[in-house]
Amino acid sequence: MCGIVGIVDAGGASFPLYYALYALQHRGQESAGISTFEGTTLHTYKAQGLVAEVFESHTLEKLRGNAGIGHVRYPATGSAVPENVQPFNFRYQGLDLSIAHNGNLVNTTELREEYERKGQIFCTTTDAEVIGYIIAEALRTSKSMENAVRHCMHRLRGSYAIVALLNDTVYAFRDPLGIIPLCIGELDHGYIIASESVAIDALDGKLIRDVRPGELVRLDGDDLSSTQITTAKRTAHCIFEYVYFARADSVIDGRLVYDVRRRIGQGLYDVLPITGDIVCPVPDSGTAYAAGYAERSGIPFVEGLMKNRYVGRTFIMPVQQQRERAVRIKLNTVKGNLKGKRVVLIDDSIVRGTTSRRIVKMIQEAGASEIHLRVGSPPIISPCYLGVDMPSRTELIASGKGIEAVRESVGATSLAYIPLRDLVEAIGCNEQDLCTGCLTGCYPVGISGEECRHNAIDYVAGTHQADLSAFRIEKQRT
Ligand code: AMP
Repeated sequence: MCGIVGIVDAGGASFPLYYALYALQHRGQESAGISTFEGTTLHTYKAQGLVAEVFESHTLEKLRGNAGIGHVRYPATGSAVPENVQPFNFRYQGLDLSIAHNGNLVNTTELREEYERKGQIFCTTTDAEVIGYIIAEALRTSKSMENAVRHCMHRLRGSYAIVALLNDTVYAFRDPLGIIPLCIGELDHGYIIASESVAIDALDGKLIRDVRPGELVRLDGDDLSSTQITTAKRTAHCIFEYVYFARADSVIDGRLVYDVRRRIGQGLYDVLPITGDIVCPVPDSGTAYAAGYAERSGIPFVEGLMKNRYVGRTFIMPVQQQRERAVRIKLNTVKGNLKGKRVVLIDDSIVRGTTSRRIVKMIQEAGASEIHLRVGSPPIISPCYLGVDMPSRTELIASGKGIEAVRESVGATSLAYIPLRDLVEAIGCNEQDLCTGCLTGCYPVGISGEECRHNAIDYVAGTHQADLSAFRIEKQRT
């Protein structure tokens, strides 16, 4: 996953983009970048590091212009090297195109090979560059961004939310299954499109709605318009956004993520009740779940672990040894709260098991008498090919193992996961409208060697039900 944002603001785009990227920092800590357009000039500044490390006031001042896009990167396809930092720029026939992508394509290799056969030389290993070439090639012949995006959507398979700056117009589109979140907000002097609504909040803006799957949105000066490029029969929103990835204060597809997680916590008690002295979250990802569990069970919510706020997400560490050290630095126990207690420990997910094993050991060492680990998602058994970093089955602790084996490996007194149907119920939509690939091994798009769900939507060229009508979104000023 990554974070993307596009802004048109009459007072200048760079500072709002910076604040929006700050709000999306949890979606990627590897690099940050901003492109703006002013008069006839495209300005871009990007580098590896956190948003606050990459940008300074004087850099933002040089990024002049009222329209721009931004990106924070979490490496999915393409390694963490400087040339993979987004946005990417393409310049031809008097047009400047800058592009930023969140998601993961499953047909990148085929597309790359096809373009390489035609003589294209790629400078990076990212999907974004491939997408940029597809759009640029289509723009050469069609001259219309709508047609170029339509052509692009026919070519891409996988997950994508994209913001593009074509001269001074911002475009944004979301894959036909809506796997990756993307929403539209209104600002005092313009509009914003961002991965999550927290970016809109950061600018005191108003969330208008989500970008629809298969929709292209255009921000041009004071004008916001949209074209439904393609419509799929079902969506496949990433279930893991609700479980872990999105910020709890974000609203995704009309649902406050905190409420979803709290309901999952309540469901965890309803389906798997256990008696304990305290309900303790793994901070911060387990907090909303633990609040729900405590509420439903009547067991007091007590913090037994404290997080060092200045350490990034553990997964950002590329090798296992660094990851293990990071967990130790990141969390400490509140020993007085744990000594002699039967602890119901709540986390959102177990992926590799590194965090759980370490935390269970720390809580034991702090003197807890029992540790009942409750998890807000079902066992993660399959890799994600669509953007989340959980690469191979061999690294997933629950893959090919029973729950008892996982319990033994993490060292908890008992272990239980929320069943999929209860997780889906807490989210409040139909299971068929979610991507549950990591939990079921069945994916919404065809992936070689993997099971594809029977009602998968094939949106390869020729199968679209294209709705070509363009419609305006009325400006909702209050
Ligand atoms: P693990 O130690 O591998 O079991 O990781 C599980 C912990 O990492 C949980 O506490 C989650 O909150 C968090 N987590 C889960 N998935 C991811 C991910 N894709 N990237 C970063 N952190 C994650």
